[in-house]
Amino acid sequence: MRQIAIVGSGPAGYYTAEAASKKWGNNVRVDVFDALPVPYGLIRTGVAPDHQSIKKVALRYEKTALSDNVRFVGNVRIGRDVTVAELRDLYDAVILATGAPDDRKLDLEGDQLTNVFGSAAFVGWYNGHPKFADLDPDFSGKHAVVIGMGNVALDVARILAKTASEMEGSDIVAHALEALKASTLETITILGRRGPHQIMMTPKELGELLELERAAPLVEKDDLPLADKDAELEPGVRKSVDLLRRFAELPPTRRSRATIGIDFKFFFGPRAFLGEDGKLKGLEIERMKVENGRAVGTGELKRLPADIAITCIGYRASPLGNVPFNERAGRFESTEGRIFPGLYCVGWAKRGPTGTIGTNRPDGYNVIELVSEDIGSGRSKRGRTGFDHLAEQRGLDIVTFKDWQKIEDAEIAAARTGAPREKFVDVASMIAAKR
Ligand code: NAP
Repeated sequence: MRQIAIVGSGPAGYYTAEAASKKWGNNVRVDVFDALPVPYGLIRTGVAPDHQSIKKVALRYEKTALSDNVRFVGNVRIGRDVTVAELRDLYDAVILATGAPDDRKLDLEGDQLTNVFGSAAFVGWYNGHPKFADLDPDFSGKHAVVIGMGNVALDVARILAKTASEMEGSDIVAHALEALKASTLETITILGRRGPHQIMMTPKELGELLELERAAPLVEKDDLPLADKDAELEPGVRKSVDLLRRFAELPPTRRSRATIGIDFKFFFGPRAFLGEDGKLKGLEIERMKVENGRAVGTGELKRLPADIAITCIGYRASPLGNVPFNERAGRFESTEGRIFPGLYCVGWAKRGPTGTIGTNRPDGYNVIELVSEDIGSGRSKRGRTGFDHLAEQRGLDIVTFKDWQKIEDAEIAAARTGAPREKFVDVASMIAAKR
């Protein structure tokens, strides 16, 4: 019997559990831990609430979670309730699938001003992550600035732009829906330090900006490279650039009909957040040029009005105890996922915040091959029984998958009309719902 602990119940965690279950069938026991009482990590608290079709992948994880050899162990924070060293004593293999929950920081003057947020916090707020439920962003100004030109920036800009009726059928949490209903924003500037050819936004998601009820995208024609240069681009990027060209050609009436403009501002990097009385009022930005693919400052500074700013410039994994950590890259130090025999990492915790949800599937299957090489048929560690004993000694209030199903039923029952669920946004309410 092999005893495996997976820390984190997001896509990387559940694909890894699926791989272990497929490989060893009844000869493995997999415990999937999560610090929250609810599973699915990024699917619940990262994927945009209006992208319900993406969230359907959770049904696949549910199938794994319900198999006899896999169990969910929620409401247990590894590193606080139980250490990694203790888990390693108990299980043949410990696999960290903890994602990249922290914001990469810009570290600019003024980043402590009110209404400056990182995307981990802001996305967590509208998705009901308990850690960010009290964020309280203020949308009473006119100008929002979203920094970065990846899919997270696009999610954030779209959520800021959508009307309440466009959010029907989504699972945006009530506190966010209410705050956004009162929004008076007129412009959402998406700031990119490089140009259209370096855009990280994918075409399907970018195309959604053309469908918005009250908002229209704007690209300055002068920012676009000559069209014959597009041929050099990789097909996905070329499609995104095609869309940027369409945005630049939208008739002025489309733009004047819109009450919110989504302005792509290429070739500008943020230099400082500017405030008055502790509150954000603008950004100092510097014109950039691209040299050998890199953004280089030109020294030309401008001021951009901003009442709220959200940095969407990537994420970092959270260090865990003494586990070797690559500070510069913001992920665990490993060789292809093996930190050392017995301890592994997978998903964003291993490779950093890149790729799609599906990228985590081969990642999970690969890490199980490493585990297999290292532990063979297992070393008769105590695994589950040992953990349950420890949990009882410490009085941990574990949430099982059955408990989660009760929490989920309560969330479904509380859903507003047309929405799939109304999420609990604090741990105490989640725990109360399981009882
Ligand atoms: P990302 O795709 O890496 O984009 C980060 C953006 O931040 C880039 O435009 C980058 O510019 C910019 N940036 C980084 N450091 C900066 C700095 N110091 N100053 C100014 N700009 C800076 O990351 P992401 O948007 O956080 O997305 C993470 C992953 O999740 C990606 O793989 C993404 O595709 C995926 N995702 C997918 C979906 C979806 O499929 N619907 C939704 C959300 C996220 P440079 O390029 O110049 O570095």
